[in-house]
Amino acid sequence: MSFLPQEIIRKKRDGIALSQAELSWFAQGVGTGTIGEGQIAAFAMAVYFQGLSTDERVALTAAMRDSGEISDWSQEGLDGPIIDKHSTGGVGDCVSLILGPLLAACGGFVPMISGRGLGHSGGTLDKLESIPGYSVTPDNHLFRKTIRDVGVAIIGQTVNFAPADKRFYATRDVTATVESIDLITASILSKKLAAGLDALVMDVKVGNGAFMATRDQSQQLAQCIVEVATRLGTPTAALLTDMNECLAFSAGNAVEVAEVVAFLKGDSRNPRLEKVVLDLGAELLVLSGLELSREDAFIKLKDRLDGGYAAETFAKMVSSLGGPLDFLEVCETHLPSAKVELPIESIKSGYVDNVDTRVLGMCVVELGGGRVSANDKVDHSVGFSRLKGVGEYVEEGEALGFVHAKSPEDADLAIKQFERIYGISEDMPELSPVIYERINFEATETR
Ligand code: URA
Repeated sequence: MSFLPQEIIRKKRDGIALSQAELSWFAQGVGTGTIGEGQIAAFAMAVYFQGLSTDERVALTAAMRDSGEISDWSQEGLDGPIIDKHSTGGVGDCVSLILGPLLAACGGFVPMISGRGLGHSGGTLDKLESIPGYSVTPDNHLFRKTIRDVGVAIIGQTVNFAPADKRFYATRDVTATVESIDLITASILSKKLAAGLDALVMDVKVGNGAFMATRDQSQQLAQCIVEVATRLGTPTAALLTDMNECLAFSAGNAVEVAEVVAFLKGDSRNPRLEKVVLDLGAELLVLSGLELSREDAFIKLKDRLDGGYAAETFAKMVSSLGGPLDFLEVCETHLPSAKVELPIESIKSGYVDNVDTRVLGMCVVELGGGRVSANDKVDHSVGFSRLKGVGEYVEEGEALGFVHAKSPEDADLAIKQFERIYGISEDMPELSPVIYERINFEATETR
């Protein structure tokens, strides 16, 4: 069946529901290039203002997913479910690097397609590229072999998943239409569902370092994603998690990888990071049927973590994808370190009352740890470590954290910014919960 793109756009502009056939035809045309840039922009703006019904969201997401390749794992002889997690992104969010190997150590298979840093938020691929030799773009044979042998491979997009989204996203990015929950849902899920998953968990961040501006919006996005993914046959749950401060003790690339290794080995664990890892993990183990209850799932996750199995799986993934064989034992000899490392001294005594997480993330970018434009080269060695968390007491002159920079001038600039990033108060602040809310399909349906 053929349609006129301008008629589809006109209908949506006027608030008329589109049929599955119309949405499917339009998304396919975006993928193959027959729909023009201007038409994508007009369609996106019409959706931005008029919104989509649940049926329309499901149809658009399915059509975008089907615009490219779909992974099929049925021939690999895997004896466990294919599972994955996705985050809306944050600062010090190294959850994927811990959770991927941990899930594999619990019996899941995790083909995790990750992204690069975006705006103030860090990217899993940039973090992994601080490991010498690790390939985030292995060929399909090595990717599948790693999944078969190790259970987890965290890589970039090497297969042509959801090409319609690539064009859609590029146009939305320059036409002020990124902030549409309908379009974000279709964009994220078209890529994730093309990976052939049996279950998915979403980590939707809330707070001053989150992608969505308000808790209400984060909640709407989580509900929308859970509903669409589940209706398309992939059981999905979401957690709304706190991003009002750095999630880990560190923010950057190599510094976060070092923290991940310390976490996996049990040498040092940020309790907020651990809570997010375990809660997301428990959702997936239950959704995928690997465990019957969340209580059982927590016991399994803690056992796999504390018994060193997740650490071992991480080490195997790193070496399978080209990294050093002894990375877990001596990661500090392999990771790049910055020329300058200086303490960031508190200018007064008191409790850490608030952290401007977005500015903290932008500071990492300014140090060279992220990109200002798409082709910028990332300096993996820079960032922040040993950061104090909200509610911790500091004396005047005590370190709020440490800056890792390529020059004393860069370090000084970052240190000056900390005066406005960290709020210090005489009174102990009220602490935010780490997990605000859990959203599953039943709850979404009875809304
Ligand atoms: N991430 C995506 O992949 N797509 C969006 O639309 C927004 C964030």
